[in-house]
Amino acid sequence: MSAGEEHATFVVIGGGIAGVSCAEMLPFHSSDEKVILITASSLIKAVTNVVPYTKMLFDFDVEEKAAETLSDKHPNVSIIHDTVIKLDAMNHRVFTENGACVSYKKLCICTGGRPKLITEGNKFVIGIRDVDSVKDLQRRIQKARRVVVVGNGGIATEVVYEIEGVEMVWAIKDKHISAPYIDPGAAQFLLSRLDEGKGDAKAPCKRMKYTVSSEQHAGKGAALGPDWHANYDMEGSFVRQRAVTVEYNTEVTAVREGDAEWPVYVELNNGKVYGCDFVISATGVTPNVAALVQGNSLEVSADGGLAVDERLETSAPDVFAAGDACTAAWEAAPHWFQMRLWRQAWQMGAYAAKTMSASLASEPVVQDFCFELFSHVTRFFGLKVVLLGLYNGQRLQGQYEVLLRVTPREEYVKLVVREGRLQGAVLVGETDLEEMCENLILNQIDITGIDILDPRVDIEDYFD
Ligand SMILES: Cc1cc2nc3c(=O)[nH]c(=O)nc-3n(C[C@H](O)[C@H](O)[C@H](O)COP(=O)(O)OP(=O)(O)OC[C@H]3O[C@@H](n4cnc5c(N)ncnc54)[C@H](O)[C@@H]3O)c2cc1C
Repeated sequence: MSAGEEHATFVVIGGGIAGVSCAEMLPFHSSDEKVILITASSLIKAVTNVVPYTKMLFDFDVEEKAAETLSDKHPNVSIIHDTVIKLDAMNHRVFTENGACVSYKKLCICTGGRPKLITEGNKFVIGIRDVDSVKDLQRRIQKARRVVVVGNGGIATEVVYEIEGVEMVWAIKDKHISAPYIDPGAAQFLLSRLDEGKGDAKAPCKRMKYTVSSEQHAGKGAALGPDWHANYDMEGSFVRQRAVTVEYNTEVTAVREGDAEWPVYVELNNGKVYGCDFVISATGVTPNVAALVQGNSLEVSADGGLAVDERLETSAPDVFAAGDACTAAWEAAPHWFQMRLWRQAWQMGAYAAKTMSASLASEPVVQDFCFELFSHVTRFFGLKVVLLGLYNGQRLQGQYEVLLRVTPREEYVKLVVREGRLQGAVLVGETDLEEMCENLILNQIDITGIDILDPRVDIEDYFD
């Protein structure tokens, strides 16, 4: 170690959910070892009030806090507010924008992602990632007449529902809305809610929520989390009724300069052209790892994430990665797959702490149970949506049947069954079926002949 160089056994890069859960858990596994968290953001993300809901689903709050609260709680953890600009994996060192050099025994890269924009460098095209970008959106909405939203994932779905008072065009490349999450039936079910407006939107939120401190953001913030919009008024004043036009099966071919009528025009490959005040590009994220990959033999997956094995270790020895920055490259359990979600970032961060400590002690490690079952809770159009396992028949190559129960405006239940065994579930509304579905997917019990969607059937009676 040269003069001016800092050293820690464990170095974690990134103050988002993944980095913070990793830094918090490292002292738990290796209580005597020094940890340094390097983060470009002034605030860090912390998980609080965790309430188990089923074995795999949790309720929790996400808070943005001063990074120093982490070192107050864990004296072995120190924070460096800086941006890592270079990794020298061979010599176990990282270099920062402000000229610091930090050496490590084990490193975890948790640098998250950045929005994939349909076009770069156009001031009328914005992405949503952190608090600053939401504030920008809020400011623009107030003066807008029409907005074009491009993308069909969770963020686009939330944005379309949350923004009111402006005309909206929602351009999606699929045949139905929210395709990564739901099937056409559920999409139809949810669409009927879109025209109704938010109604009692100020009702208390009983699920995980996201709290933002009043401290200033440095513009390099971590990704937002669940219910991010709860703190922001997303209302324009141009139209009274919700006015959303969905353009299906289409992609943007060009974003054209505006004129006296509209600041910008969007051309779609179905031949339509929409003038608008600005475009929200919600077309996914690109893992934020380019600077760290340069000059190192780090394997990068096709989606741009750092390829990690079942211990979350990259192809470079002693370099681990977690959260949006990584791509799960191990052979996944039958009912789990990666999606760049808040919960997975949290679980991966905590699990990386375990595997980094085990690696230091040259001990084996058993993969965490959370990688057995994909589970996600969110809210679309004001309704609770629970996704479990292979909820969209992923990997089943069409070889499955669907059990459906729909109560208009209240609930939509879709179960994916193959050879009498439950593989996945979409539960929209207050269905109270989460635990049963979770158990049936994990245990792979044969449910042939049992009408599990009949509310009078108590599944436990069959297995006592
Ligand atoms: C608008 C929005 C809504 C979302 N809604 C949901 C939802 O409802 N449910 C859900 O599950 N998920 C949601 N997500 C996704 C979820 O927020 C992310 O998957 C998750 O936060 C990723 O966490 P992370 O720690 O991997 O990355 P991030 O939260 O992006 O954190 C990355 C951290 O690394 C720091 N950093 C980056 N580069 C460097 C560097 N070179 N040096 C030092 N520090 C660096 C950043 O400052 C930041 O602190 C949403 C995301 C967005 C943007």
